Amino acid sequence: MRDHPAPSARPRRPLGLRAAWTAVLLLVAALLAPTAQASHHNTSSHQTHVNSMHYTSAGGGAAGPLDEQYCAQVYGSSYLSHAQARNFLEQTLAGQGDRDWDGTGGWRIDLWLAPNPCTSYPTQERAEIELEYHYAADWSDVCGGSYGYYNCAVSQNPVYNSDYGHTDYRWKVMYMVDSTGGALDNVGRAFINHETGHAWGLLDPRWDGDCHTPSIMHGSYTYGCQNWTNWWPSSYDYDSVVASMNGN
Ligand SMILES: [Zn+2]
Ligand SMILES: [Zn+2]
Repeated sequence: MRDHPAPSARPRRPLGLRAAWTAVLLLVAALLAPTAQASHHNTSSHQTHVNSMHYTSAGGGAAGPLDEQYCAQVYGSSYLSHAQARNFLEQTLAGQGDRDWDGTGGWRIDLWLAPNPCTSYPTQERAEIELEYHYAADWSDVCGGSYGYYNCAVSQNPVYNSDYGHTDYRWKVMYMVDSTGGALDNVGRAFINHETGHAWGLLDPRWDGDCHTPSIMHGSYTYGCQNWTNWWPSSYDYDSVVASMNGN
């Protein structure tokens, strides 16, 4: 679950060989492509989504226990201020109408900003925050790779969900690097939506060029697929998340 920017320039192979590889990859992709028109998501007994996305809290005036709260935490190496990170997160996650995750699945995803830095909350309060976004120049100690290259999303606190017969997680922590995930532009928006897609159980492509359906999980900003060039989730992404919510 570590994510890098789309490669801008790649060494070119001789054309014939490229065509042959493309044919092989297309065949493999065709064999592995899900029959439903959906982005791939977990279907095993261990699912990497947050538990609360199956459920909705009554009342829309404040965050309920089954809603999703999120917070930002900016570390000293980042160029961002807390207010910049928090405001951009809020705009991206809940301020884009049909182009954000908020409200997905009949408001089973209902995102609420916890306005202060994640680590400023007392333990019990922080435990009620499902999504944390941590910003720094570099997360290679968590996400691997070279300095400042990868963003990633990490599941924490597994729980057995007897309603759906699988294990899912209470929390997801998103690690955002300045160069991409922390950028205050469409690149940053794409990475926020991609990493948050992991919180709903969406998966990375199985290989670079695994572009079977248009998806924020493998769009032009992240894994170089050209069938989704936008920074917001695709209709296939929303459909996949709702399928997961329904236990499918
Ligand atoms: Zn679940
Ligand atoms: Zn990813």
